[in-house]
Amino acid sequence: MNINIETKLFGLLGYPLAQSLSPMMHNTAFLECKLNNIYLPIEVLPENLNAVINGIKKMNFNGFNVTIPYKVEIMKYLDEVDAYAKAIGAVNTVTINNGILKGYNTDGIGFIKSFEESTGHKIENKKVFILGAGGAARSVSFTLAIQKTKKIYICNRTFEKAEELSNSLNNRISECSLAVPMSFNEMREAICDSDILINCTSIGMYPNIELSPIDKRLLNKDLIVCDVVYNPKKTKLICDAEEIGCGTVIGFPMLAYQGAEAFELWTKKKAPVKAMLNAVEKWL
Ligand code: NAP
Repeated sequence: MNINIETKLFGLLGYPLAQSLSPMMHNTAFLECKLNNIYLPIEVLPENLNAVINGIKKMNFNGFNVTIPYKVEIMKYLDEVDAYAKAIGAVNTVTINNGILKGYNTDGIGFIKSFEESTGHKIENKKVFILGAGGAARSVSFTLAIQKTKKIYICNRTFEKAEELSNSLNNRISECSLAVPMSFNEMREAICDSDILINCTSIGMYPNIELSPIDKRLLNKDLIVCDVVYNPKKTKLICDAEEIGCGTVIGFPMLAYQGAEAFELWTKKKAPVKAMLNAVEKWL
């Protein structure tokens, strides 16, 4: 890599970042496309976010990603937020053009692309059961709603958060089919009524790889079971679902597809998705 005065800077803002695969994935993509770009992990403490954004504005940055815990807070520093990220209420990708910072959210699109690639099915008209009501659940559920799913059950340990997310889906997306909130102990019937189940909680994530958010007996072979958790590559939930005979969608391709969307927003070039997928898979 030949870094010089022309090198365009990109990065990831968040805290902590030790586990992040994004720098490796994006630098692979830049190399693959022979772009004079570099992507840096930038760990930022909450009290320094303002100063870091001001610094980025004065440097040769053309864009950056944002991760936990700044996906919502970043919005107040941006000049523009695209309508879709506004509806979601969170930003994970920022472009910088002529000093203008514009926010986008590519997480949900990443999920849809990975779902369609893995299953060959479209999401439209399906009934979906989502576990979780945090950042990932928010991006995925808004994207599903925009893509005209028939029904979205939002099931969360903290019921109030499931209720808040369901209300905002029903209020903000005019064409949204009914979103229904529920607590963990009401899930049996809703799962039976669903075509797709998506784990958007962190249950099952390394190091707690022996945990699943769902009792295996609640799964049935007609369900497509998806997990956004990507470490381990195959979670306990995905292994249980495979044993029952369900179609499955693992989490790491979503990471590569959301990254590919960001790459295209920054460079206006087609992302080398295969290289990005390979880079992430190799690491895992
Ligand atoms: P988050 O905003 O912190 O939300 C965490 C969610 O998990 C909440 O709904 C929380 O419920 C639930 N939860 C956590 N521990 C739980 C437990 N022990 N029992 C029941 N529920 C529990 O996190 P996030 O950003 O949504 O991320 C969630 C997962 O998605 C992480 O593993 C992350 O790595 C993964 N992710 C993957 C991708 C990808 O590209 N594949 C993208 C984004 C995120 P409460 O509301 O009750 O606390």
